[in-house]
Amino acid sequence: MDKVNFYDFTMPKLEAYLMEKGYERFRAKQLFRWVYGQKTIDFALMTNMSKALRQELSEILDFNLPKMVSHLVSTDGTQKFLFDVGGETVESVLIPSEDRMTLCVSSEVGCNIACKFCFTGKQKLKMRLSVSQIMGQYLGAVKVLNDTVRISNIVFMGMGEPLDNPVSVFDAIENLHSPSGCNVSRKKITVSTSGIVPLMPLITKSRTRMAVSLNGANDAVRSFIMPINKKWPLAELLKACREYCDETGDKVTFEYVLLKGITDSIEDARELYRLTKNIPNKINIIPFNEHPGSGFERPAESQIVAFQQELIKLGAHVLRRKTMGRDIFAACGQLRSAYDGHPGRLELAQQGV
Ligand code: SAH
Ligand code: SF4
Repeated sequence: MDKVNFYDFTMPKLEAYLMEKGYERFRAKQLFRWVYGQKTIDFALMTNMSKALRQELSEILDFNLPKMVSHLVSTDGTQKFLFDVGGETVESVLIPSEDRMTLCVSSEVGCNIACKFCFTGKQKLKMRLSVSQIMGQYLGAVKVLNDTVRISNIVFMGMGEPLDNPVSVFDAIENLHSPSGCNVSRKKITVSTSGIVPLMPLITKSRTRMAVSLNGANDAVRSFIMPINKKWPLAELLKACREYCDETGDKVTFEYVLLKGITDSIEDARELYRLTKNIPNKINIIPFNEHPGSGFERPAESQIVAFQQELIKLGAHVLRRKTMGRDIFAACGQLRSAYDGHPGRLELAQQGV
C-alpha cells in the first residue's frame, strides 16, 4: 500500500484519516506532539504507543520532505534555499531586516496569472505544491539554520499565486500556526495575492495578514500589466480589501511595483493615494527588479524617491521594499526554477540588474 505523507495533514484531517483506518482519534495528537513538539520522526522513540501500533503506523505514514538541493547566502545576508519537489524545484528566500527574519515561501511552480513583469509568471503553471512541500520549505530552512537565526515571519510571496492553490496553502498555514504544529503567530504570516477576488475571504478567515499586488493605480494600467484585472477590476478588488479590514480590524498591505514610464509618475502616486485612501492600508513600493528580456525597466533612483515622497506628502503610510539578494537572484519577482542548478545563468541574471 502507498504511504501517505504525515506533513500533508492538518490535525483534524489526520484524526479523520486515522479513525477511518480504525485507530483512536488521539493518535493524531500524539503524532503531532512527537513530530512538531519533540521534533522526532523516529517511531522507535514514540514510546507512548505500543510496538505493534508503531509498526502499523510506520507502514501507512511517511515523513518525506522536499530535499534541499542548494543553499546560497548573499553578501547582504539574504539566503536562498532551493528544494526538489519531484523533478521540479522551488525557492524560498530568507530576508533579514532590523526587527525580523522573514521567510518568503512559494506556493506553486510557475504561475498562470501571467503578470507581465514577473519572472515566475513567464513560466506557465507546472505544479501546485502540496501541504508537505510548503511545510518543507519552512522546516527545511529551520533545520539548516540550526538555531543560528529564528524565523519570525512567513510571507507567501515566493513563486506562485497562493489563492490558486488554496487548500494546500491554508492547510499549511494551519500547521504553521497551530500550537500543536510550528506555533507561528497568525499575525506573522502574510498571504500575498494578485487579486483572485472570490477567494480573498479565505485570507480573512485564516486571520493572517493580507497583501495585495496592486501595481497599477487605474484599470487601464493594471489590466495591461496584470491580465487578471480584466476579470476582477479594481472596484471589486478594493471592495474585497475593505471587507478584510472591516472584519479583521487590520490594515491591508498594498504592493506596488515601480516600472519606469508605466507606474512611476508623480500623477501615478497621486492616483494611487486617491484609490487607496479610504481603506486602512500600508503601501509597499517595490522598485522593479530587472530580469533578462522582461521588457520593463527599473526607474531611476531619483524617480523612486520622488514617488515615495509624493505619497508621504499626501499622508500615505508608505514603505520602500529594499531590494535584497540580487546577487543570488533572490529578489522579489525574480524566482524561477528554470534557473536552478545553472550558476552560469545566475551571472547572466546579475547583468540585468
Ligand atoms: N502571486 C502573489 C505572490 C507572489 S509575487 C502575488 O502576485 O501577490 C510577490 C510580489 O512580487 C508581488 O507583489 C509582485 O507584484 C512582485 N513582483 C513580481 N515580479 C517583480 C519584479 N520583477 N520586481 C519587483 N517586484 C515584483
Ligand atoms: Fe503569479 Fe504573483 Fe508573478 Fe503575478 S506577480 S505572475 S500572480 S507570482
